[in-house]
Amino acid sequence: QFPFGRRLPCDIYWHGVSFHDNNIFSGQVNKFPGMTEMVRKITLSRAVRTMQDLFPLEYNFYPRSWILPEEFPLFVAEVRMMKDSDPSWKPTFIVKPDGGCQGDGIYLIKDPSDIRLTGSIQSRPAVVQEYICKPLLVDKLKFDIRLYVLLKSLDPLEIYIAKDGLSRFCTEPYQEPTLKNLHQVFMHLTNYSLNIHSGNFIHSDNVNTGSKRTFSSILCRLSSRGADVKKLWSDIISLVIKTIIALTPELKVYYQSDIPAGKPGPTCFQILGFDILLMKNLKPMLLEVNANPSMRIEHEQELSPGVFENVPSPVDEEVKVAVIRDTLRLVDPQKKKRKDIQQNIDSCKNEVNVRHNYFMCSRCQTLEPVSGAKEELLEAGRAERADQDATKGAEPGLPSLCLKQVFPKYAKQFNYLRLVDRVAALFIRFLGVKGTTKLGPTAFRTFIRNCKLSNSNFSMASVDILYIDITRRWNSMGIDHKESGMCLQAFVEAFFCLAQKKFKSLPLHEQVASLIDFCEYHLAALDEKRLVCGRG
Ligand code: ADP
Repeated sequence: QFPFGRRLPCDIYWHGVSFHDNNIFSGQVNKFPGMTEMVRKITLSRAVRTMQDLFPLEYNFYPRSWILPEEFPLFVAEVRMMKDSDPSWKPTFIVKPDGGCQGDGIYLIKDPSDIRLTGSIQSRPAVVQEYICKPLLVDKLKFDIRLYVLLKSLDPLEIYIAKDGLSRFCTEPYQEPTLKNLHQVFMHLTNYSLNIHSGNFIHSDNVNTGSKRTFSSILCRLSSRGADVKKLWSDIISLVIKTIIALTPELKVYYQSDIPAGKPGPTCFQILGFDILLMKNLKPMLLEVNANPSMRIEHEQELSPGVFENVPSPVDEEVKVAVIRDTLRLVDPQKKKRKDIQQNIDSCKNEVNVRHNYFMCSRCQTLEPVSGAKEELLEAGRAERADQDATKGAEPGLPSLCLKQVFPKYAKQFNYLRLVDRVAALFIRFLGVKGTTKLGPTAFRTFIRNCKLSNSNFSMASVDILYIDITRRWNSMGIDHKESGMCLQAFVEAFFCLAQKKFKSLPLHEQVASLIDFCEYHLAALDEKRLVCGRG
């Protein structure tokens, strides 16, 4: 620990709160630049909404949300419209201040007019969200799940999920929201920090009972009731991967700004806390992502009024110790070195064998010609081995890993969703000056020109108007005043506009994919031309 500042370079830097030290030039840091900003309630809602615009069905695991104050009129109008079309719809909404945590400032409402717009809403923006009225109950209580996820690398994307998590219980039996019970936090909010103050809170040494239990104990219970627990896990894995896919484009912009490519810098990894609510029909819904989840393995116990003592919490210990231990095993610098060396050897071998279209038969140790099927087998074998290495862990005497790799393991199923990642790659290419996160008007013009997007129907004057309109609106939302120019979300909006203009009759995600292909094609051609000119 370096409470007064650090002098020596380290292999692993374990920061308490965020990535904040720009004087690290090597090693690995346990936080990504920009992650804290990315998982704030408003930013997360925006990032998920962009994905919902592209892939509404795939992203229906996040409740419909509006951002306050700017979307208040939209919220009122949409709710009115939905009520008109379905008079039996009696919704409840939950208002959550941006950047809040531990249930701070959260309240439920039945009607948009109940929002406390008085004074502070301008200074404290919030998200208002459809309230999930029919959660799954255990022992008549509402509960949520905290799952730990390791984002081991952003590029290439590597995600691990802990096999066990925590279930945090309310302390009053649940009833569907009515005007009478809306304010009962112990019934509606599952936050540990709130429920601990309820007289009904049960500390338990047993992972199967009490107000905080392991998620695996809930799964056992569900399984004994005949629930399809395998499907539930696969839905949870899919929710986690899709959420991270929504976050990566902006994270990459932050990353290149703090750790520019080509300059010495550390690599990053991060443990995230996913808060998930199960609906009565077992559908998992994302509540929020925590960039700095509590890793405490003790809880406070009130010995006598006002006198507290920290006592070990076996449930926290069982789940969290495994997460930290496995994270350290996966990012072990020695292991990384060994892996790099092995990869170099492998790539040399592959290069030699693939170049000659042969592969080494493992049974007879002879070189055999590679057919399509054998290539696939080889690839599958490689993936399998990588997965086994990652999940079993080679270290003798240590328990097997609780962190399970889910990406790139399931990459094939999810890669089609990574469209905004490719838009972000275009954005980053045109950012120009290292260390910035916003695009200037000239850079935007260069993007349009290099990608051949301007024509007689879309003049450069219209390009400037598009840039000014969208940039001004995003900057007026007061997200980041430090830099002027077009942020990634504004660029994404402009890109969607251009895609709709160019490929009119397709669904949005196909329009966007087509425009990305079009831009990438022209940029590749330009790069080739430059390369040839350079050689010449
Ligand atoms: P905080 O960061 O303050 O904990 P959360 O978004 O996690 O904010 O919300 C706090 C609690 O409110 C959650 O743990 C959950 O019990 C409840 N909650 C949040 N959003 C919803 C929702 N859309 N539907 C039902 N319950 C919710």
